[in-house]
Amino acid sequence: MHTMVIALGGNAILQKGDKGTAENQRRNIGKTAAQLAVLAKEGYRLVITHGNGPQVGNILIQNEAARGKVPEMPMDICGAQSQGMIGYMLQMCLQNALRECGLNIPVSTVITQTLVDKNDPAFSHPTKPVGPFYCRQWAQERMEKYGETWIEDAGRGWRRVVPSPEPKSIVETPSIKSLVAQGHIVICSGGGGIPVMETEDGSLLGVEAVVEKDLSAEKLASSIGAQSLIILTDVNGAALHYTGSSEIWLGEVTLPDLVKYYHESHFFEGSMRPKVGAIMRFIEHGGKQAAIASLDRAIEAARGETGTRIIA
Ligand code: ADP
Ligand code: MG
Repeated sequence: MHTMVIALGGNAILQKGDKGTAENQRRNIGKTAAQLAVLAKEGYRLVITHGNGPQVGNILIQNEAARGKVPEMPMDICGAQSQGMIGYMLQMCLQNALRECGLNIPVSTVITQTLVDKNDPAFSHPTKPVGPFYCRQWAQERMEKYGETWIEDAGRGWRRVVPSPEPKSIVETPSIKSLVAQGHIVICSGGGGIPVMETEDGSLLGVEAVVEKDLSAEKLASSIGAQSLIILTDVNGAALHYTGSSEIWLGEVTLPDLVKYYHESHFFEGSMRPKVGAIMRFIEHGGKQAAIASLDRAIEAARGETGTRIIA
């Protein structure tokens, strides 16, 4: 059996110009689900993971709008909410798409926690922007009252930033593995998983942070022994000299070449760099096939026909 982890970028759920209504999200997810059903029909065992940036952003706005009426929830719980919401939409759309293909495959969503190290250097340098832009006064109040970190983005206002630590392990790996072994399509590790850390006594504690979903996808794929990791986004792969006059889109590449480009800083932090890092690590950890491709070319990408791809 061939297990394939597919990471869906934010555009699988919300696209530029979408308002973010339930209908918008369901329509976009429906299109992706149709392609995933075709892959299931081809015999791949699928594990689906996804981004959650805009959804968590909206949950944070809802929280704030309800301040004084209902208690504000911390980020880890907002992350869990988004996994449930997106998981439900993906789960139902996939079930419908599978039924249309004449397939009877169970689909399960697993609320997933990602273990991070409390000594990760990211905790002293928050970099990942979350939620909407605010005025200086609001940012200052949050910094003073709650010790949050906010940064000014020239012209657009102030935005909260949180640490983006490395994923150490996926807490629910055993559950995911046994569901996959039983033939389920599993949706998990949404938004990179809910970041948790281990306390002195070994218990878990949610933290205010965001793990890059691509790095968690690699951790997930490697720890369940998947053969393939396919990262789908809004561009068909990674480019050298991106947006420059000598831009070159990468097709099939060797691992050593990709490692070299990675260290030459062709891929932007917070967007393409974690994807390239993820496919490199996956092959280094024994994965057979890894690719970054455009969302609407999922089937070709899975067949190894398009996108930036490394063959072990
Ligand atoms: P996702 O929601 O799929 O994770 P991201 O916005 O995080 O999407 O990452 C995809 C984006 O990465 C592309 O839209 C592109 O603008 C950007 N990007 C940065 N560096 C590169 C590069 N070297 N080659 C291609 N795309 C790049
Ligand atoms: Mg991203």
